[in-house]
Amino acid sequence: MIGGGLAGLSSAVALADAGFRVRLLERRPFLGGRAASYDLPGGEHVDNCQHVTLGCCTNLDDFYRRVGAGHKIAFYDRLVFVDSAGRRAVLQASPLPPPFHLAPAFALYPFLSWTERRAIGRALMAIIRGDGINAYADGPGVSMLVWLRRHGQSSASIERFWKVVLVSALNEDLARVDARYGLDVFWKAFLSNRAGFRLGIPRTPLGELYDGCGAAIERRGGEVALRSPVRGLRVSDGRVVAVEMDTGRDETADGYLLAVPHQTALHLLPPPVVEQESQFANLRRLRVSPITGVHFWFDRDVMADPFLAALDTTTQWIFNKSRLYGQPGGRYLQLVISASYELMPLSRQEIIDLCRAELRALLPATREARLEKATVVKEAAATFSPEPGSDRWRPSQCTSLPNLYLAGDWTNTGWPATMEGAVRSGYLAAEAILSASGAPRHLVRPDLPAEGLARWLAARGARRG
Ligand SMILES: Cc1cc2nc3c(=O)[nH]c(=O)nc-3n(C[C@H](O)[C@H](O)[C@H](O)COP(=O)(O)OP(=O)(O)OC[C@H]3O[C@@H](n4cnc5c(N)ncnc54)[C@H](O)[C@@H]3O)c2cc1C
Repeated sequence: MIGGGLAGLSSAVALADAGFRVRLLERRPFLGGRAASYDLPGGEHVDNCQHVTLGCCTNLDDFYRRVGAGHKIAFYDRLVFVDSAGRRAVLQASPLPPPFHLAPAFALYPFLSWTERRAIGRALMAIIRGDGINAYADGPGVSMLVWLRRHGQSSASIERFWKVVLVSALNEDLARVDARYGLDVFWKAFLSNRAGFRLGIPRTPLGELYDGCGAAIERRGGEVALRSPVRGLRVSDGRVVAVEMDTGRDETADGYLLAVPHQTALHLLPPPVVEQESQFANLRRLRVSPITGVHFWFDRDVMADPFLAALDTTTQWIFNKSRLYGQPGGRYLQLVISASYELMPLSRQEIIDLCRAELRALLPATREARLEKATVVKEAAATFSPEPGSDRWRPSQCTSLPNLYLAGDWTNTGWPATMEGAVRSGYLAAEAILSASGAPRHLVRPDLPAEGLARWLAARGARRG
């Protein structure tokens, strides 16, 4: 297995559980890939970027439990939004059955007019009647922005409601998001099931979530090899015959799983194989989008909430890392900006100054506080971009080479580039390997079931559609 991110780890652990001897080769000195944590030169241990999960991420939840990390995720069912004037809205479930459990919170959303809130209600009903993906009646290739316009959403509702949820969930501007993904986020997280929208946040640095992985792999005689960069795959007679390490040494196995980012997969595969197989060549068409994380350490407590979603500012989410790690107060904050295209050309100091100024409005306690330290992490290629029609370029976990499998958030899972998507891809690849070895097994967990009236309304819509 090449790559110790969530895709490689979930596949390796599931296969080890099924009795396979797995050798996992990871380039870096730690596991977790993009969802990892590491030491800064100053000594602080930081997450590559704040990572959150949702109640609807059933496979990630299954993986965390498998490796004994389930208890390291805290779930929150109260989401607080704040605008630059300091006004707040709370998203919390009412006793109403799904899909109406969040309807009172949406109806009282203070940042929009009644007319705009009614229009949001109508658009949400369109999603419910179409059962998420089936609501996608506009054909492939329509952007979420076009879908919202066609469903009567004003610029203000798009900016102050839809974008707040979707840009961070999908890491892309709505004009570049395939409507299928946007509709699916609302159906799975906010409409179909009461638990779908609960926000899961690690209580520990990300690296500690993978403590159990090595032991799970080693129990079956496998091995995790860190600091083991792979240089390429050797292919002969339509099969992979070896993995060539950076040291020049070869590694051989019965089967090979490539679980690296898609741009890296293109480099590791022999060029003639890429040119011959559209499954690989099409990976060049998948574009990437950036995320920027900003870490601030203040000299005093500046925030009481565990996290906040911000409206009207470049800063989109603020996480109170001190509190999330169970320490009193809120001195260490992490800010997240998804689809952060406009920050890419700015210097780190310019980004720090911009976010610091925004915090003065969003969190008044920061006005008097002294900023002791700040760090900016720009990830230019954070995730693949879920552009309209991008599903066409996402390959299956099985390849035309019979002993080569693929895993990664960019492979075909139906999910956007998320930790859940990465784990699904890992489980799908493991299922394919188990089937090929004559011992098929189901690993992929189903979505949360549609509950209450959501199930009935969706079924009625599907019958009509
Ligand atoms: C800044 C940021 C914020 C994010 N926030 C969230 C979030 O809040 N919620 C969420 O669900 N998702 C989030 N994501 C997305 C999530 O991190 C990814 O979807 C997921 O971690 C991808 O896992 P993966 O295993 O597919 O790929 P990766 O994590 O990229 O793993 C690939 C692994 O392969 C290794 N590798 C590469 N080349 C080689 C080589 N030649 N030899 C050996 N090993 C190699 C890499 O070092 C890496 O460990 C975020 C991503 C970023 C970048």
